[in-house]
Parts: sequence; structure tokens; C-alpha cells
Amino acid sequence: MSLENFTLDYFSLKGRTAIITGGNTGLGQAYTVALAKAGANVFVVTHGTNWDETKQLLSGSEGDAEFYQADLSDREQLQKVVPACVEVFGTVDILVNNAGTIRRNPLLEYKDEDWDDVMALNLDAVYFLSQAAAKVMAEKRAGKIINIASMLSFQGGKFIPPYTASKHAVAGLTKSFANELAEHNIQVNAIAPGYFATKNTAPIRADEKRNAEILSRIPAGYWADPSDLMGTVVYLASKASDYMNGHVLAVDGGWLAR
Ligand code: NAD
Repeated sequence: MSLENFTLDYFSLKGRTAIITGGNTGLGQAYTVALAKAGANVFVVTHGTNWDETKQLLSGSEGDAEFYQADLSDREQLQKVVPACVEVFGTVDILVNNAGTIRRNPLLEYKDEDWDDVMALNLDAVYFLSQAAAKVMAEKRAGKIINIASMLSFQGGKFIPPYTASKHAVAGLTKSFANELAEHNIQVNAIAPGYFATKNTAPIRADEKRNAEILSRIPAGYWADPSDLMGTVVYLASKASDYMNGHVLAVDGGWLAR
């Protein structure tokens, strides 16, 4: 990049291919639409097959879209994702590790299977998918891995021990991968969304007391909309962020600044 050459084309994703896990609901849907509108082909990995809404949102985008069903907490299915994308689009340039889950229960009653399920999806899937994608990216000496962290990558929370543990670990993996992959020209960063109005957060938005507590701490004063993340994901997926590596970028209306 040089001062003379800089144009908004540095943000263009034309000709790139992006895998987005959990890319047809909530925040993942916003990442999918943003990357497609910036020109990328999108390989949308979903748990179910309810694809109509996202397909409609993608109509008119420049790149192509392929939808692929997989249970990412199943190691065998997980290992097939990157090869499936390579088979359809020939490569992978961008991986957004968005799929995640949360189970709320007091620690003293926390169930073993809830720990296992949350860790399998929020942490194991991030590690194995990133490793598989990095092998493809390293061969061509270019790639972007974007992990989805959380405010719970910085704070402890209550009633969500595996969610907090997994999101702290996602921040750690982001740095660990960034250090090793930099020499292959692969940048690994994370987005830490603050409080967004999605299915994931419906129970706390429905709790009047908790909802008021949260809103009173957000300097912006409102629950964010998934579209508030679209610029961030395009930036981290694009050439414009080539010198950014190992960073956990909070998009939180100022929550962490309080
Ligand atoms: P969401 O429930 O709408 O999205 C979760 C996605 O993961 C869904 O598309 C779901 O189908 C997919 N998924 C769940 N289990 C899966 C499995 N076994 N295999 C494959 N896919 C599976 O919730 P969201 O709020 O959009 O969350 C997306 C990500 O953002 C998560 O990693 C979450 O931890 C993170 N996050 C959300 C918020 C927020 O305020 N909503 C804040 C911080 C971080």
C-alpha cells in the first residue's frame, strides 16, 4: 500500500471466497450479506436448512453463494467444511468463525453436557476449522481468519461458565494463530460484539431488570443491530487491514470503555 495508490478498492472483496459459519441467522447473516455486497463469493455453513431469507438478502450481490449444512460440534462433519468450499469455489480466502451457542444456568447446577456442547462449538470448531482453512491459505500466501469473540472474552459474567471460558480462549487462539500465520501472510483477528439484539440475547432482553442494567452501562444507550457489524467484517476481510494481526476488536457502543 502507498499513499499514492490508496483507493476504496482496498476494501473490495471481489474475487475472494469467504466461509461464514452460522451465516444465515443473527450476526452471521450480517457478516454473510456484508461480505457478499463487498464482492465475495460466500460459502454459508448452517445448522439447519432454513435459507430463504438469507438467499433473498443476497440477491443482487456480485459474488456467488453456496449454502452447506453441517453440525459443527461433530468433528467428522466439521472436517468436511473446508474441502467442500474448495470443491465449489476452488479455494478459501476468508474464514469467519461465527457459529456459537450459549447455555445459561447457575454454576452449582451446571450440567456436564452443557459444558461439552458449548466448548465443542465455540472453541473446538474454531480451532479445527481455522487450522484446515490456514493450510489452504498458507499455500497461496494470503488469507484472513476472523473469529467472533465477545465481551465475555474480557469479563466473567454469571451463569455461563463455558461461554466465558470459550470466548476467552477464542481471544487466545486469535493471538496464537496470528503469531504463527503472519509469515504466511495470513491475518487472524477477532471481533468482540457488545450487546446485539439477536436470538442469542432474547432471554436477557426479556428480563426487565437485566435489560435495564445493560442499557444503563452502554454509552451508546441502545442494543446494537447486526448491521452495525457489517463495516467491521468487511474491513477485517480486506486488504485495508493487512497490517492488523492478532487483535480483538470490540464493537460495543462503548461498553468496555466504562
Ligand atoms: P444466533 O443464535 O443467531 O447464531 C448462532 C449461529 O450458530 C446460528 O446460525 C446457528 O444455526 C449456528 N449454530 C448453532 N449450533 C450449531 C452447530 N452445532 N453447528 C453449526 N452451526 C451451529 O446468535 P448470534 O447472536 O448471531 O451469535 C453469533 C455469534 O456471535 C456467536 O459466536 C455468539 O457467541 C457471538 N456473539 C453474539 C453477541 C450478541 O449480542 N448477539 C455478542 C457477542 C458475541
